[in-house]
Amino acid sequence: MAREAPPTAGLPLGMADLLPGGDADLGGALARFLAVPTVQVECSGTAALMVALTALRSLAPERDEVVAPAYTCPLVALAVAHCGLRLRLCDLAPDSLDLDLPDLAPLCGHRTLAVLPTHLAGRVVDTGNVRSLARAAGAWVIEDAAQALGARTAGASVGSGSDLAFFSLAVGKGLTLFEGGALIAANPLLRAACARASRNNVPRHAFWELRRCAELLAYAALYRPSALPWAYGAPLRRALARGDRVGAAGDDFSARIPLHRVGRWRQSVGVRALARLPDWLAAGQARAAPRLARLRRIPGLTVLDDSPAVDGAEGTWPSFLVLLPDAAARETALAALWGAGLGVSLPFVHVLPDYPRYADLVAVEDRSAELPHARSFAARVLSIGNSPWLDDAGFAQICGLLERAACGPRNPPLKPPISPTPGPAAPAARG
Ligand SMILES: *Cc1c(COP(=O)(O)O)cnc(C)c1O
Repeated sequence: MAREAPPTAGLPLGMADLLPGGDADLGGALARFLAVPTVQVECSGTAALMVALTALRSLAPERDEVVAPAYTCPLVALAVAHCGLRLRLCDLAPDSLDLDLPDLAPLCGHRTLAVLPTHLAGRVVDTGNVRSLARAAGAWVIEDAAQALGARTAGASVGSGSDLAFFSLAVGKGLTLFEGGALIAANPLLRAACARASRNNVPRHAFWELRRCAELLAYAALYRPSALPWAYGAPLRRALARGDRVGAAGDDFSARIPLHRVGRWRQSVGVRALARLPDWLAAGQARAAPRLARLRRIPGLTVLDDSPAVDGAEGTWPSFLVLLPDAAARETALAALWGAGLGVSLPFVHVLPDYPRYADLVAVEDRSAELPHARSFAARVLSIGNSPWLDDAGFAQICGLLERAACGPRNPPLKPPISPTPGPAAPAARG
């Protein structure tokens, strides 16, 4: 295998990023980047969400439910469970990443602590309508911007208009410390509650920080075209060969969520890499424009964009999400493209209740919910990495295969020959 495009456009690290010393105030640097007063750095996006939920619970101990989209990162479900809260699932709007407002309205009530609109794959989703519904029920809004660091609405960072928001600094989400998270809050009361929740619950834990330092060094060494076939492609193809889609998509999370402080060295690596992030995101946007135009010309393919409900949305483009016309077409495309070294993958394999290992984390009344739009989304979606290491020939190959998959078999199957012997009798018409 000569090449391997990663599934997202992660910012590579250089040797100079890894030197000791320098500014270790990653929170301050992120606050300037996001144009918000302060940013609280945590050891993962999941940890940032847990700190946020703990903070809100301290302000409203009687509220114990969290509403999240049914199609989201399973770590969200693990975080909610770790906080002793109940996870309620909201359907998506049809062919959209927006929460389905008719489904959301009855989920919001006196038990609702927070609602989590989720900016998946850099796409800006509707938060204004979600805020209105949440506020009417006395609940807070936490924007899950794990995959959307740098995305903006009318010039302001996503998340800055809601009560709380978190970003992930994990591998594959753009800027990375191997694992890391950033939490922002809209007002001083919430900021103080989050700072307190972190102080009271997050230990220093030198072992975990040391391990993350080693993992960050390994990432810096291996996140390059020459190493990715071995470091990313080989395990991916092994998982696919044994039929393990959850492993192939990276959805196989440990139920143990480490909580620890992020040390000075990793923060200083983040500060140095962050200086390159604006140019990196701009280059990603420039690369995305013609590729999006090409994808939009494929008949039958739906290309996910920022929500039409948001004025002035400017999402980021770590990857492109597309919807095939039906599940069979998506399977055809996946069979040809997943594991082919072109950075095609699934954001997540299932809606949360359809993972045997995570179904129990969902509130019991939602485990058998229909969630028709989210299920249809999960069955038809496919993600294409927007890495600079995916060259034009590779992208053209993806488009050709999507074109064929989206318009179905080129020649409709021949009608079966008329059988000389009568088949089973047709069932009598009902009615
Ligand atoms: C990755 C992710 C998280 C969790 O972030 P980590 O930094 O990996 O803990 C939460 N929500 C979504 C949508 C994610 O993609």
